[in-house]
Formats: sequence, structure tokens, C-alpha cells
Amino acid sequence: MRTRFCLGAFALLFIFAPAHLPAAETRCPFDETKLEFVGSPLEQAKCLLRPVAEFGLLGQPLTTLPGPLESLIGRPVTVNKEKLEHYLEQHAIQETEIGGAITNVLRAKYFVIHDVSAPNYHAQSFPTNINDADWKWNDLNRWRSNQAAHFFVNRLGQSVAPHTLTTPWRATKLESRVLGEKSRGLFVHTELIQPRRADPQGHPGNDGIAPLPGFTEAQLDRLALLYLVASMEHGTWMVPAYHAAIDAGIPDGHDDPQNFDLTLWANRLAALLETVRAEGDPLNQRNTDFNRR
Ligand SMILES: [Zn+2]
Repeated sequence: MRTRFCLGAFALLFIFAPAHLPAAETRCPFDETKLEFVGSPLEQAKCLLRPVAEFGLLGQPLTTLPGPLESLIGRPVTVNKEKLEHYLEQHAIQETEIGGAITNVLRAKYFVIHDVSAPNYHAQSFPTNINDADWKWNDLNRWRSNQAAHFFVNRLGQSVAPHTLTTPWRATKLESRVLGEKSRGLFVHTELIQPRRADPQGHPGNDGIAPLPGFTEAQLDRLALLYLVASMEHGTWMVPAYHAAIDAGIPDGHDDPQNFDLTLWANRLAALLETVRAEGDPLNQRNTDFNRR
């Protein structure tokens, strides 16, 4: 989201004094003819996954990405579709959680990572239960009808899809203010539930501080699954991107996601791929049978 709430709905619920981000943040160059950022998919990812510091200040483009991202992005998805279906079945994951059937064909090239930046606890500290089911913002019913993104992922690692994955939905200023209608369907948007609080060093009403560590491992696990699902439907591994990097250089930009551990996400993706690839294997089956005795 942004230095204030990413979701318009929240702007009505909370008092906030907006602050404009420095315009010095330069955008990754975008080729409007090809409708993609400049460079190979891997080069694009290195620019679009620049570290996002407080108030949306961006670091330098990365020189390498943590494995397995470096060897996947832009390449064909070789994961067996039946194995992924088996995995989803085994884990009782419904199509409503992953945005539709994995047999769909997805045109979108970019997998955009956001955090909802809500609620803002202002001067208070974060509640101790933000990673538990009894923290009310982890209730997906709150997000089910929110139209702001394709997916919302709570801190327990559960997800809901207000839009199917193939719905051409826009959620950044680059899409709505710069590229316009032609950008429809190029981006898939995932909102990770994460609260904020005010930085006493910042302007009044700011929401600069996010929890540290930021997202839970369960949350990153589900984000990895959504990335696999989207990439499988696209055919090649999509380019992951942070919202703040997508909108860099656009006035009144956003600062999300904060405290996203890219290496941990990559590790969780590697673990997921290992599990999915083992689905239905005889050895795996024997272990399952043994465990049932
Ligand atoms: Zn956002």
C-alpha cells in the first residue's frame, strides 16, 4: 500500500495526514509498445524487487536473486499440473482460494506483492496476537468482498480471491494513471495482511512502521503457492515485483511491502516445489501409508 492506506476503503475509516514521497525514486523503464519493463524477465525482477525501506525509499536494483528465483524467472514452468492438482487436493485448497482453476490461461506477466498497511495503530504498539486467528484482521471474511486486489493472504497463511486470477484488475498508479487501459490484465495483485504504526520521527499520522519480522512463514508459503499457480497458468515463471517499485517516481506513491524477506520467500518457494514434485511418487505414497498405520 502506501504511506497512508493502500485501500481506499480504509481512508474513510482512519484519520490520516498524507505525505508525498520523494519524487527522486526512479521507475524501472517500461516499454509501452511491448507492454513490459525493459530487459530480460530476470533483469526486470532485479529492478522490481529492489529493497523497500520506510516511507517507500527504494534501494539499488539487486545484482542476484536468491535461489530458486534466479534460475526460474522467465523460464517455462516444468512442474507437473497433475501433481499440483494432487497437492491442492491433499491440502484441501479450494479454487476460491487460488483464483480459479489451474487449467486457466493467464496473460498477466507481473506478480505484484503488496501489504495492506492496515490497520494503523498510530502511537500504540502492535498487539501481541497479530499472527493468531483471534486478531480480527486475520478473518478473511473482512477481505472477501474487498475489490482492491486478486488475492488477500492473512498471517495464518490462508487466502481469498475477490477476483479470479484471469480478471484484468488494476491496483497501481502505473496502471491507472500512467499506462491507462492498455495495462489491464498485465498485473496480478496480492495483498498480504500486515498492520502499521506511526514512526515518531515521521510526519503526524504516518504509518511508517511495520512489524519486524514482517510477514509470517505461513503467509510466505501461501504467497509461494499463488506465485506457482499464476506462473503455471501463464506458462513461464512470472516476474515478481514490489508495489513500491512499480509505482516508483509517481507522485503520492506507495511504500509496500515493508519488511518483506525475499530470501525467506525464495526458500519457502523451493520447499513448496520440492513437496509438489514429490506428490504421488511411490516413495512419498509409502511414507503416507506408513504414517497411517
Ligand atoms: Zn500496494
